Amino acid sequence: MRTSQNPVFIPGPTNMPEHLRKAADMATLDHRGPAFAGMLKPALEGVKTILGTTDGEVILFPATGTGGWEAAVSNTLSPGDTVLAARFGMFSHRWIDLCQRHGLNVQIIETPWGEGAPIAAIEEALTNDKEHRIKAVLATHNETATGVKSDIAAVRGAMDAAGHPAMFFVDGVSSIASMPFHMDDWGVDVAITGSQKGFMLPAGLAICGISPKAVAAMETAKLPRTFFDFRDMRDSMAGGGFPYTPPVGLIHGLSVAVEDLLTEGLDNVYARHTRIATGVRAAIEAWGMTPYAKTPDLFSDTVTAVKVPDGFNGTDVVTRAASEYDMAFGVGLGEVAGKVFRIGHLGQLTDAMMLSGLSVAEMCMADLGYPIELGSGVAAAQSVYRHGDNVLALAA
Ligand code: PLP
Repeated sequence: MRTSQNPVFIPGPTNMPEHLRKAADMATLDHRGPAFAGMLKPALEGVKTILGTTDGEVILFPATGTGGWEAAVSNTLSPGDTVLAARFGMFSHRWIDLCQRHGLNVQIIETPWGEGAPIAAIEEALTNDKEHRIKAVLATHNETATGVKSDIAAVRGAMDAAGHPAMFFVDGVSSIASMPFHMDDWGVDVAITGSQKGFMLPAGLAICGISPKAVAAMETAKLPRTFFDFRDMRDSMAGGGFPYTPPVGLIHGLSVAVEDLLTEGLDNVYARHTRIATGVRAAIEAWGMTPYAKTPDLFSDTVTAVKVPDGFNGTDVVTRAASEYDMAFGVGLGEVAGKVFRIGHLGQLTDAMMLSGLSVAEMCMADLGYPIELGSGVAAAQSVYRHGDNVLALAA
């Protein structure tokens, strides 16, 4: 059992505020009664606001982000349909794999890891698809494996420039509720996330935003689905319930989490993530290292993959942090295994918590013989987080 009081710095599941943990831990209640309906409604309404949609609606499943991927494709597509997706990290790869296992034909744009959604190549592929065989474009907003944020507005721009009618599915698992997301403005037909990242809850809910176009597609889609059928879930949710037994505690937790986020103010939530991430990047620069994301416009505000110098293995930093300092960071996955370690900085996190994480990362690297100076990264982050030279004078 984990007894540590240290925060975690994995890119999800994230740290849980105590009151959210308690909100998700409930005595049994009748999920067919009004008490459940009374918590479902504000949870759905709050998620809608966070997704940035008034046209769309929210569907929840007892699942995780992967279930959201599956729900998106199985409700809107038919066997043999073509979808367009770029592969530039472990999560974009896994979504492609899921589509292939569902009998879809995935037109893959291979993109170097560390880059984001390739806008020009997407536009070209859509422009060349004169017969409109491509039924959906898939985009990973925040590639958690590489710490890369893609420009989703630009992907929509490419679709519009090509005049292509494909649906647009966006994986926002590690961005939604921590970074700006504009489902309606970006013309997103299915937005996907989970409860365990920006919503600061335990894993267990797949959260999908679906547009009227996705709702229309579900009537003709022929891929099989039962557990993940939007139709059953929409009908039941309209009546304040679920088509099967809901995870009541998680939905109660979600109703409280959305209230928290909206009370803090979404702009403030996003600004907090940007500030914390800026401090992390300042620390990395002070260590003489760089994020794996190739250019600053791609830097994610929720996770940073730190590229380690030649001759070092990033996984050792993670192992040492766990064994010696009881702190969790993320290992590199797939193609970047060993080449990076990942610092998650999303969900319930403060500047002070982040400084503790940076100081432990620094100690681990010093222990392992990295050419860094103890305190250098922490000092660089402090210079981002502190409130100014005149703070004492102002307080007097
Ligand atoms: N997509 C992204 C970007 C992710 O980061 C993750 C998990 O970390 C997933 C999808 C898969 O979500 P889950 O593990 O909740 O099934």
